[in-house]
Amino acid sequence: MYTLPNLPYTYDALEPHIDAETMRIHHLKHHQAYIDKLNAALEKYPELQTQKLEKLLQDLNAVPETIRTAVRNHGGGHWNHSFFWQILTPPNQNQGSTLGDKGRTLKSIMEKNFGSVENFQNQFQEAALDHFGSGWVWLIKRQDGALVIMSTANQDTPFDRGQPILGLDVWEHAYYLKYQNRRADYIDAFFKVINWQMLTVLLTKKD
Ligand code: MN
Repeated sequence: MYTLPNLPYTYDALEPHIDAETMRIHHLKHHQAYIDKLNAALEKYPELQTQKLEKLLQDLNAVPETIRTAVRNHGGGHWNHSFFWQILTPPNQNQGSTLGDKGRTLKSIMEKNFGSVENFQNQFQEAALDHFGSGWVWLIKRQDGALVIMSTANQDTPFDRGQPILGLDVWEHAYYLKYQNRRADYIDAFFKVINWQMLTVLLTKKD
């Protein structure tokens, strides 16, 4: 049975960019609800409970039809949120000058793929603003090594397209308490709490 993973920081650690109340509700209520509904869907299928979640999500056609949508939505919700918490960090940690050599590596990878770090940020922000409705925006490392920005609807996961490097939750529940309809401000805030060290680790990981 799946359980809620602990956050690698406290609920108020991302203040003032992402507020403690949003983090608390997002983690304890929304993420927990995906896990509860995923567990409920898998209850009658012990053979599926022992499989890796990524495998279930990558091969949804192998999941019985009666629970396929539940696994897609709630399994995807569990996977996406578990990833999301890992790529956030308190402001000024794992960022900027604290990155050292990793920062130089990251910069050269971004320049190679997007021309500059700023271009990457602009393209990612644009994709996050343009995404209609609930979903996620991703930076993906494709099999051929190229980095691409893409989005998924609802709680669909991105790994059929490659290895996820960065993901942004653009569901309103991720920002509405603090930012209401101002998604652009939320996206700006997100960029202040990205764990660039984690990104560099994911980018340079050998497959
Ligand atoms: Mn969410």
